[in-house]
Amino acid sequence: MLVDSFGRKHDYLRISLTDQCNFRCLYCMPQEHMEFMPPNELMQANEIFQIAKIFVELGVNKIRLTGGEPLIRKDIIQIVSQLATLPVNLTLTTNGYLIEKHLPLLLEAGIQSINISLDTLQANKFKQITQRDGFQKVWNAIQLLLQNNRHVKVNTVLMKDKNYDEILDFVNLSIHHPLHIRFIEFMPFTGNEWEHKQVVTQQEILDLVRTNYDLEKLTDEKHDTAKKYKIKGAQGTFAIITTMSEPFCGDCNRLRLTADGKIKNCLFAAEESHLLQNLRNGKDILTIIKQSIWQKKARQGGQFPDNFKEAESDKIINRSMISIGG
Ligand code: SAM
Ligand code: SF4
Repeated sequence: MLVDSFGRKHDYLRISLTDQCNFRCLYCMPQEHMEFMPPNELMQANEIFQIAKIFVELGVNKIRLTGGEPLIRKDIIQIVSQLATLPVNLTLTTNGYLIEKHLPLLLEAGIQSINISLDTLQANKFKQITQRDGFQKVWNAIQLLLQNNRHVKVNTVLMKDKNYDEILDFVNLSIHHPLHIRFIEFMPFTGNEWEHKQVVTQQEILDLVRTNYDLEKLTDEKHDTAKKYKIKGAQGTFAIITTMSEPFCGDCNRLRLTADGKIKNCLFAAEESHLLQNLRNGKDILTIIKQSIWQKKARQGGQFPDNFKEAESDKIINRSMISIGG
């Protein structure tokens, strides 16, 4: 069992497969000075499996693949097929662009629930945000997953000047489709030019939705980062991930493994420990994992003030989101 000094049990591992991506989302990938990891420093498929197995022996029962874009890995079939043999709930966060190509793999691996990132329902705006022309392909991917009876969560990062005006359109989507929209508060990472003025908070979202719809609060599950709601009679739901305005660290069960094989005990942790390097040197990584978890800070890597509006993004020691793995 992986327990930290605050008694929090950790059973959920997010593995980043790469820091590269076929999109260039403004809030995720630094527009300047982006240096990608050298290929020989990335975990290879069998190393991912070996490290994941150790986490599973230590009590991890859920693994999410992320990145960068996980589905661009050339060896994605080997990675997913191997991880699917572990006794875990295996899942994925993807931009959706390559879903159609890899659908047989995802079905074969028994992946039931998939998170697709989509910040706008307007093709032109999609191109502005991701710097790629992919709206139709991502929308088709969502439809394809629904046709195959997958549980689809749509991750939408809200930013005041980008997509505040689409909140009701996304909520409307949850009425007419069995989709689970998750509004994510914009978070600061290295190189993403975060400003607190761009954050759309839970309160602002609820105030807006309430003026238009009758809302029902759903019960949140243990360790849930999202506060769930439903519009009366809707096929789907919507939720808000309140990392900035109402952090949910007290109940955190998540750990991260970067694509270059370092454990991060928190999304905002400044400290990282080398698992891959030690594994390659034949060292026992179990102790390193336990030590890292024990050192986890109470809240947000110990790097944020109580009021997120006072956060100074250039003082936060971290990586860019694309190289952490969200
Ligand atoms: N490429 C995949 C995707 O886009 O779903 C997986 C990696 S991406 C880093 C994982 C999630 O992090 C996405 O839902 C993305 O929208 C979210 N994300 C990236 N930068 C963010 C930021 N600055 N604030 C909040 N969420 C962010
Ligand atoms: Fe790529 Fe996902 Fe980051 Fe967009 S959010 S740049 S799709 S990793």
